[in-house]
Amino acid sequence: MVQTTGQCLCGAVTISGEVGSNIQACHCRQCQRWTGGSPYFCVPISDPVVTGGETLAAYHHSTWGERTFCATCGTTVYWTTKGDAPHSAAAGLFEDQTGWRVTEEIFVDYRAAWLLPFKGATQSTEAQEIAKFDAWMAKQGKSVE
Ligand SMILES: [Zn+2]
Ligand SMILES: [Zn+2]
Repeated sequence: MVQTTGQCLCGAVTISGEVGSNIQACHCRQCQRWTGGSPYFCVPISDPVVTGGETLAAYHHSTWGERTFCATCGTTVYWTTKGDAPHSAAAGLFEDQTGWRVTEEIFVDYRAAWLLPFKGATQSTEAQEIAKFDAWMAKQGKSVE
C-alpha cells in the first residue's frame, strides 16, 4: 500500500489514500456500460479522501450500489455500497502503476467474448460474487433487495 493521489480527466475530482497494487477486474454488464469499456479495473484504497464537491456525482443502478463519477468530465471514480466511503477506486485515475497486476476477476460469466482471462488471476462467477456479497452485507447489518 502506497500513499498516493489519483484524479479525473478534468482534475476537478481527486482521491487520495493508501492504494494497493492488486487490481480487481469486474466484468458485469453494469460495469461494462458504466466505464464504457470492459471490464472495470479497480485497486484497493484505504482511508480515502475525496475532493470534488458538487462535481462528484453518484448513480444508483441498484438499491445498494453507488457508482461515483465526475459530472464535469464523466470519469469513473469508484463503486461502493450506498452511502459508504469507497474501498477501491478506478485504476486509471492513478499515475504510477508500477508493479500493479490483475489478481482477481469477477462476474467472469459476463466477460466480453473478445477478452482473454488475465494469467494468474482468480476467477469468480456472478453466482459466487452474489453469495459473497450477500454474506458481507448481512455482516454489515444491511440487506440486499
Ligand atoms: Zn473531471
Ligand atoms: Zn461490475
